[in-house]
Amino acid sequence: MFSAEEEKLIREQFDVLVESCRECFEPDEEDVAMITSAFEFAHLAHIGVRRKSGEPYIYHPIAVAQIVVTEVGLGTKSVVASLLHDVVEDTDYTVDDIAKMFGDRVAIMVDGLTKMKKASDFAGKDGTYNEQAENFKKMLLTLSEDVRVIMIKLADRLHNMRTLDSMAPHKQVKIASETIYLFAPLAHRLGLYLIKTELEDLSLKFSFPEDYKAIKQRLEQTETSRQEYIARFNSPIIDMLNKHGIEYEITGRVKSPYSIWKKMQRKDITLEEVFDLFAVRVVFKPAPFIPEKSQCWHVYSLITDIYKPKPDRLRDWINIPKANGYESLHCTVMGPDGMWAEVQIRSQRMNDIAERGFAAHWKYKEYNNDSREGEIDKWIKEVRNALNWPTQDAVEFLDEFKLNLYASEVVVFTPKGETRTLAKGAVVLDLAYEIHTRLGNKAIGAKVNHKIQPLDTVLMNGDQVEILTSNNAVPKVEWLKYVVTAKAQQCIKSALKGRSDDSVKNGIQIFDKALRGLNTKPTGALFKKVLPAYDCSNKEEFYSKLGSGIITLDGLDRVVKSSAASKIVKYWSVGLSKLRIFGDSSKNEQITDLHIVDDISYIMADCCSPIPGDDVMGHKDGNIITVHKKSCPNAIKLVAQDGANVVPIEWSSQKVKSYLTHLEIRGLDRIGILVDLSHLLTTQLGLNIRKLHVESHDGIFEGYVTLYVRSRADLQDIINKLSTIKSVGKVKRVDNIIM
Ligand code: MN
Repeated sequence: MFSAEEEKLIREQFDVLVESCRECFEPDEEDVAMITSAFEFAHLAHIGVRRKSGEPYIYHPIAVAQIVVTEVGLGTKSVVASLLHDVVEDTDYTVDDIAKMFGDRVAIMVDGLTKMKKASDFAGKDGTYNEQAENFKKMLLTLSEDVRVIMIKLADRLHNMRTLDSMAPHKQVKIASETIYLFAPLAHRLGLYLIKTELEDLSLKFSFPEDYKAIKQRLEQTETSRQEYIARFNSPIIDMLNKHGIEYEITGRVKSPYSIWKKMQRKDITLEEVFDLFAVRVVFKPAPFIPEKSQCWHVYSLITDIYKPKPDRLRDWINIPKANGYESLHCTVMGPDGMWAEVQIRSQRMNDIAERGFAAHWKYKEYNNDSREGEIDKWIKEVRNALNWPTQDAVEFLDEFKLNLYASEVVVFTPKGETRTLAKGAVVLDLAYEIHTRLGNKAIGAKVNHKIQPLDTVLMNGDQVEILTSNNAVPKVEWLKYVVTAKAQQCIKSALKGRSDDSVKNGIQIFDKALRGLNTKPTGALFKKVLPAYDCSNKEEFYSKLGSGIITLDGLDRVVKSSAASKIVKYWSVGLSKLRIFGDSSKNEQITDLHIVDDISYIMADCCSPIPGDDVMGHKDGNIITVHKKSCPNAIKLVAQDGANVVPIEWSSQKVKSYLTHLEIRGLDRIGILVDLSHLLTTQLGLNIRKLHVESHDGIFEGYVTLYVRSRADLQDIINKLSTIKSVGKVKRVDNIIM
């Protein structure tokens, strides 16, 4: 049970919650009574139970309710449902009990949350790849009933992330991966910008603690000089807005640690190179009787009188808001000292919506036209439709679903002048399927702005598009290459399904026969050799291409007999007793020894080419473990989707072999540089070079080297030595080389 002191603290937390409710949505006494009885009920239900951190469990539902009120902006029923969200799952009470006490709506919400929890909480199970994806899928199925359920779920996840410190490290990584993989995108889609940003930052903190610390530290160090610059930048804007009698707030903000990290990863740049990027936000209080839109443009014109705008960097989300409801005017201007700065201009209402999403819409009833509420309903309907596709493979579905969550958009017009919103990069064929499956299946082209264009034409904002059809048209495999929306993908796949089933069967027969001739069996190891040799990414593709005659088995005997690709390195003795299955039960920290098979092979993943010393993880498939760098996007995805087969691995110091790695070398071109380079690498360092490729243009020299090294320390040594060669400017490691 809890001590008197704890009881007192619990009540205090609850009082804060009630106070917040009063401030945020003016509950009547009946509402407060209902919230109070929900609290008393939950408190009693969780009595004596503690969280991992040791604090009373009831803190968690109170904290979730607090987020739901102050950060999402929901009302009484949601607060009640938040307080009760773990009761059904963790105690003997049923949804019926909740319905009797708090009414049907609350019961439906709690039911949704319980189902979501069951589906997402697979930590106790060693699910397979598909099971885990299937669970995500189930969780998404519960999206349907009430958007508030997802919002409460996000608040729940946010609080769990905020208190992740008390979890075991391997669970932290797993939960953080899930968060970045699914929950942050969901928050994005619902327009919960602040929550999304915090989820991302927390996720980074637990997945890549070092990187996170470095960024945080650097942000603090540069804080003063940044603030000074922003003040200098803002000063003339402030004068101007005052002169025109505009009521406003102006703030300068830095990018979030996660977005900085993302940018560094993507562009391979240093912290410093990201740091000059900041944004200034002008939030104005609209004057009465003038449309907010006109006032935005007025502020824009005042600011661009001071600083010159970059012409191609104007973003107008006022005339056409994003699908998640975001409205704002963004421009990039040239500030003092020739630095570019982004300025965001929006009204208070727009700001509220930008930060809190759809929840904020409910506050602004007069703006609440049907179309916006309709948008989110439409989206949820789409998700449900997609989920109900019986043939849809769960893993594939998740990837596509995620694509749709983050996609930015284009808006196009139908011949009748109706607008349709599609993912950016969508082509004519995507639009056809968006309008109707039948229209897509029969499409042959389109009139885009009255000119006839092919199906793979990329749509631009404002295009007017009329789809052209023919009764003889049928969906083609090539279509899959250029459509970008999940809907079009699915429609085409299901239309092709009938045909490809036959070719897969056919392919299996051909392959089996060929293998029998060679006296081999189709083992996992064999496919590891065969798939890359025929340029296929999975068995399905291989069989289907084989069955439909796209590929033939020329040279199969050579492929089969080849020792597995040279990048397969047999490498062993990774502290086995430490191997622990990810996602083991939270209750008993059971440590499971893997059954060790002598011929376990380690493959260094192509996507990130890890070498000893890198932070790595392994993904197990049969007796083959693929080793990825922990920061590899594919690794993050694997942890989120297939945690059960992710094995923590460490580099051992024994039996060290060499690993393939890639270097990029840049510098000023000069006669003899190539000789110097190869001399250093081969003669002086005695390295085994696999590939050396050099280009030079406009006096700049670019070299790419693929070589074998033993460890990170080794590599650093090589980089240092290369850097000392005359006229070499930059030497850096790259994950792979695309030539
Ligand atoms: Mn919870």
